[in-house]
Amino acid sequence: MTYLSNEKVTNHFHDVVIIGSGGAGMRCALQLADAGHRVAIVTKVLPTRSHTVAAQGGINASLGNVLSDHWQWHMYDTVKGSDYLGDQDAIEFMCRAAPRIVRELEHQGVPFSRLDNGSIYQRPFGGQSRQFGEGGQASRTCAAADRTGHAILHTLYQQNLRAGTHFYEEYFALDLITDDDGCHGVMAWDIAGGGYHLFQAKAVILATGGAGRVFKVTTNAHICTGDGGALVLDAGLPMEDMEFFQFHPTGIADVGPLITEGVRGEGGYLLNSEGERFMERYAPTARDLASRDVVSRAIALEIRAGRGCGPKKDHVLLKLDHLGEDLIMERLPNIHELALRFAGVDCTRQPIPVQPTMHYTMGGIPTNLHTEVVRCGGDGEVAVPGLYAIGEAACASVHGANRLGGNSLLEIVVFGHACGERVNGFLKQRRYHPPLDPDCWKPAVARVERWFNSIGRSESGPRIADVRVRMQSIMSDHFSVYRTEGVMREGVEMIEALAEEMSEAHIEDGCRLFNTELIEAMELENLMALARVTAAGALARTESRGAHARDDWPERDDEKWLKHTLASIRDDAVELDYKPVRMKPMTIESFPPKKRVY
Ligand SMILES: Cc1cc2nc3c(=O)[nH]c(=O)nc-3n(C[C@H](O)[C@H](O)[C@H](O)COP(=O)(O)OP(=O)(O)OC[C@H]3O[C@@H](n4cnc5c(N)ncnc54)[C@H](O)[C@@H]3O)c2cc1C
Repeated sequence: MTYLSNEKVTNHFHDVVIIGSGGAGMRCALQLADAGHRVAIVTKVLPTRSHTVAAQGGINASLGNVLSDHWQWHMYDTVKGSDYLGDQDAIEFMCRAAPRIVRELEHQGVPFSRLDNGSIYQRPFGGQSRQFGEGGQASRTCAAADRTGHAILHTLYQQNLRAGTHFYEEYFALDLITDDDGCHGVMAWDIAGGGYHLFQAKAVILATGGAGRVFKVTTNAHICTGDGGALVLDAGLPMEDMEFFQFHPTGIADVGPLITEGVRGEGGYLLNSEGERFMERYAPTARDLASRDVVSRAIALEIRAGRGCGPKKDHVLLKLDHLGEDLIMERLPNIHELALRFAGVDCTRQPIPVQPTMHYTMGGIPTNLHTEVVRCGGDGEVAVPGLYAIGEAACASVHGANRLGGNSLLEIVVFGHACGERVNGFLKQRRYHPPLDPDCWKPAVARVERWFNSIGRSESGPRIADVRVRMQSIMSDHFSVYRTEGVMREGVEMIEALAEEMSEAHIEDGCRLFNTELIEAMELENLMALARVTAAGALARTESRGAHARDDWPERDDEKWLKHTLASIRDDAVELDYKPVRMKPMTIESFPPKKRVY
């Protein structure tokens, strides 16, 4: 069965290999392990350190525990929030599944906060409405205080331990094993032990999370380096809609940690240097609970107009002391701690300094609503057999040009579950591990050894830590909340030049055991590939839609741009292609584009 000649590569055989142990990977693993398959999770950090653990505010479902609600209203809000770029079949699928999947989480053990009558506590979040925007604010976000992701991730981990999922912790995925018949496995590097491992599988699922570290200041953990997307680009497949990165309105100024939208959901609000509640001017109805792109742009405009706070006038204030210490300590204890630790502010008494901060990767690996990775063939989308993507790494696309708060935790469990079901069916057809090309392990080994060979090149090339800082600065300076042609064009040139410098870059640590510099080098390779497609896609899109706001093209242009970007890297050059938005939901009438006001 094994075709390897290199004895240094250790072989593993599983029915399914999932890369990533965040909420998406673990929900999927649970489904498959419970169905009796031999499931492996390969993860570069300990499972409960995945970024899902940081999610604060909650998960959306139209349970209607506080105010009446309906999945169609949730769907309407999500389509509108996406600035009409979301695929409506996938959005319908997600919103319909939400109440069932959240109750299932409850039964699996997630300790949700409770209402007095014992049902799951729900808080209002941005962009939520009732009766298709006519019935006022909804209250749709189910929360476990302000540690919802922590509660979900730990519950799913425990369930996976029960179900017998195999965990390969601190293994770094290097390369997908693909051929004309699809994907058959993945090569990985054992970070602690320093060896090569070939995981053969009948199906491979990418659940590698977002790519926030492309930017300088972000709410994302250091591990959010978009590795799955880079593996896909490397395999010759495209990435979808990467120009859409969400800026969260309330990252702690200068440092980035997130202050959840739940603060505004509980009644907190934003103030400028004149003490004005400025959101009333930008979104007269939803005010501070307008969607994130709208609030981030409003803050950017206030700062631009000189109404920012602090000596540099570069942030605004989030006021919540009027909510009272009891409510803050019961529903937002984590926020209290974060504000104290990172801003030195006791939020029961003073406002928190905040500014828009890179938060979420709307784009990702293109999939259909069954989570199959797709490429565009002559007559539409064609699934790559045996390759799936879920969670923030994927683009289904349920978030389109702007994600609503609380919809990402929902996406990871809904599509984690759906992927498990789909792969379960696929495994009935693919019953054996297909034979592999005997040399399939070589590119991965070359990828790592190139870095070990770079040691000693210190005279000629840059250190990877320096390249990373420069890349993040270029992306933050040239592709931020507001974008313009000239600034972006310069950004594209700078990123392309920097990508070339990567071939000269070097590491200094030659140890094979726990070499974090090596891992950072490979993460930087991944980030660089994603920065390149992000920059090219953003420059090309001559309109403003959702998180992509251009000073020079301030309007949305549905005639020309109601379509998804597909960006690939061929012969080391970025190539752009496009595919239509799936406007037709599965069972109901579609929501046609209209002007978006909050
Ligand atoms: C601070 C913060 C707060 C948030 N709050 C909310 C919220 O309240 N509500 C909401 O809906 N959403 C929220 N989000 C968004 C949401 O948490 C994420 O989108 C979601 O949890 C992503 O889950 P995931 O399973 O796709 O990926 P992650 O949880 O990011 O997991 C990725 C996994 O991939 C693994 N991995 C990556 N690369 C490799 C590699 N090369 N080799 C091996 N393993 C690899 C990692 O080890 C990790 O296990 C928040 C995000 C942040 C950053």
